[in-house]
Amino acid sequence: MLPNIKIILVETTHPGNIGAVARAMKNMGMNNLALVTPKTFPCAEATARASGADDVLAGAEVCASLPEALADCSLVFGASARSRTISWPEMTPRECADKLKIEALEQKVAIVFGRENSGLKNHELDLCRYLLRIPCNTAFSSLNLAAAVQVVCYELFVVSGQNDSVAYGDKRRRIPATTEQMELFYTHLEETLSAIDFTQPDQSRSVMRRLRRIYNRAALDSKEVDMLRGILRMAQGHKGKD
Ligand code: SAH
Repeated sequence: MLPNIKIILVETTHPGNIGAVARAMKNMGMNNLALVTPKTFPCAEATARASGADDVLAGAEVCASLPEALADCSLVFGASARSRTISWPEMTPRECADKLKIEALEQKVAIVFGRENSGLKNHELDLCRYLLRIPCNTAFSSLNLAAAVQVVCYELFVVSGQNDSVAYGDKRRRIPATTEQMELFYTHLEETLSAIDFTQPDQSRSVMRRLRRIYNRAALDSKEVDMLRGILRMAQGHKGKD
């Protein structure tokens, strides 16, 4: 999905912003950048701000017009901080990412960002199917260009599934317990509670229902169930020794 998405910057004035956009994109696993008549490019300041994403800069397509940059794209979003008098269908970056999760699998998509001082012109938005607006403080709604690209690319990265391969804490090592494991655990627990005289046969059912509720909330993993059953075995063993 991500390789099919192109970020297009229209008439960027500050080369530092172009570098910062390249960095924001590479952080999120994206590298398709097109620049429509940038004021100064290539430029040492852009390379410095890219800090390590200079490959994205080197691969950037420089185009003479927005239609040229969009030529190979079939779905186009225009990012704008401003609501327009003529209304375009609007999406948030999250809604856009949800849509592209499927649509960008088989078609090329462009997300267009405007100039630092004046954004995108209406005739440029005419080339876009959707207007992309980052929800923010309505009294101060214009983000820095690279910050806007960062927010959008982050949402795309999240839906792309690439972050599933990044291990946060021990999340990846947890294998959730299966229903079968849980049922064996509950049977074992019920037997043990009866063996240690915690429950009488007539109470067992309601106690078990409450205990199920507790363990369900805990969303146990496989190893945790093994550990709990180890405790039950020990408890039963001790009972035997009484
Ligand atoms: N002063 C300009 C905004 C320029 S910011 C204006 O009034 O339109 C540069 C670019 O960053 C914008 O053209 C837009 O593509 C993007 N951007 C900034 N803030 C945004 C927001 N809240 N939502 C969507 N895009 C935004």
